[in-house]
Amino acid sequence: MNDSPPFFDAMMECLKHEQAKSPRASVAPEVLDQFYNEAAKASAPPAPPQPAAPEIPSAPEKPIEKSPAFAPIPKPVFQRHQQITPCPLNELSLDELRLMTLTCRNCELHQRRNNVVFGEGNPQAKLMFIGEGPGMDEDEQGRPFVGAAGQLLTKMINAMQFSREEVYIANIVKCRPPNNRVPLPDEANACLPYLERQIEVIQPEVIVLLGATPLQYILGLTGIMRRRGQWGEYKGIKVMPAYHPAFLLRRPEAKRDVWSDLQEVMKLFGKTYRR
Ligand code: SF4
Repeated sequence: MNDSPPFFDAMMECLKHEQAKSPRASVAPEVLDQFYNEAAKASAPPAPPQPAAPEIPSAPEKPIEKSPAFAPIPKPVFQRHQQITPCPLNELSLDELRLMTLTCRNCELHQRRNNVVFGEGNPQAKLMFIGEGPGMDEDEQGRPFVGAAGQLLTKMINAMQFSREEVYIANIVKCRPPNNRVPLPDEANACLPYLERQIEVIQPEVIVLLGATPLQYILGLTGIMRRRGQWGEYKGIKVMPAYHPAFLLRRPEAKRDVWSDLQEVMKLFGKTYRR
């Protein structure tokens, strides 16, 4: 029985083959290389048996989930615009409205004001007066019609057999325009929602418009000279245009016209002038 390893057999075959080609031939280098390689393999200790790889349990099968792209998006509790929208003016009381105007910066007039002149009087007044805007005295005191023109207005109110405390007095803008100029349209329009809410809350029976500016922004009309003394209407409220008291201070002869207009208002309240 031949116990020689196979590579020796192969080696012998190879040497015999080489010798057969030529008895004097030396063994070719590639034959020797093959011999050494085979000898090295044969003398190497057998490789220890490899421990069996631990069996990896296969992952339990999961139910297939829907892609997040198709998952329903939960609705937010609050929309962002709901959080930043200011409280609508038509839900505010007069006191709340006044507080809001104290910090108002909706137009340029806030920059130089000393006080916001919100308006004052009886919150249930039947008669309301609307002027143009605060002057220097009003800006200093934070009250409407307290200067020379205001004193004349108080006389007019008393002549109509009302007291200042019974009526309500306000202006188109609540902050003083520089140098008592006429409010610019963007200033008047920025401030108008406050006045509209004031009228809505007070619900007077009659509004007297003092001068061209309230005529323009309450009735949308121009020409106080020709409109004065003619009844108009604002949201179901009777409106009487008349001259501004400051105009009467410059043009005292116009007092006769104003008095005529105010008497029309008095008639509506069932009052007659008594000397
Ligand atoms: S005038 Fe009216 S709108 Fe302008 S800052 Fe004063 S309160 Fe605000």
